[in-house]
Amino acid sequence: MAKSLSPVCKLCRREGEKLFLKGERCFTPKCSFDKRSFAPGQHGRTAGRGGGKGMGTGRASDFARQLRAKQKARRIYGVLERQFRRYYDTAITGRGLTGLELLQILESRLDNVIFRLGFASSRSQARLLVTHGHFTVNGRRTDVPSMLLSEGDVVSVREGSSKLNYFKELNVFAEKRNAPSWLSRDVKSMTGSVARMPERAEIDGSLDEQLIVEYYSRR
Ligand code: SF4
Repeated sequence: MAKSLSPVCKLCRREGEKLFLKGERCFTPKCSFDKRSFAPGQHGRTAGRGGGKGMGTGRASDFARQLRAKQKARRIYGVLERQFRRYYDTAITGRGLTGLELLQILESRLDNVIFRLGFASSRSQARLLVTHGHFTVNGRRTDVPSMLLSEGDVVSVREGSSKLNYFKELNVFAEKRNAPSWLSRDVKSMTGSVARMPERAEIDGSLDEQLIVEYYSRR
């Protein structure tokens, strides 16, 4: 399975904002961004906050803003460029708004759904749990975190895995987290399902899908 190997906290510093990629740690004083909120690298301090390429001290160009919007979404969902492009190509063929279609595809990834259900503290942890075979989809074991779920699909912790300490503590952990209303879940039986696709208001408001569409439209 292909995945991004960049040290995750650097990604937040590159984007100039907290992307919450490391679960509970992001809410503690250990957060690297809270300690060093400048971009990584030799010129990080001089580039200013949010100082990615083309985002320096001057006004960012349209291209730089589009690129950053795309990179930010990619990093939040942990998707490599080639796969992200494929999602965009699929979104174009959808019947709805391309930007919203793209976000819905990203939200429907199995690792994201597990994270949203509160069964993992981050998408990367969800990815790891899936690759280790701890989850089933519609009763069938899967180790593919990028699997796209549809309305009615049911995600469960595998019976054998539910005896592990992590999943025994899951009830307490998951109870503390709210699942979005497009998903339904039963923490006790460690099961969740996709009730419907999320609406725009139910997806991260800091993502700018219009800029992402503009980025790919000019290429
Ligand atoms: Fe980003 Fe979380 Fe690392 Fe802070 S701890 S820099 S929010 S990934």
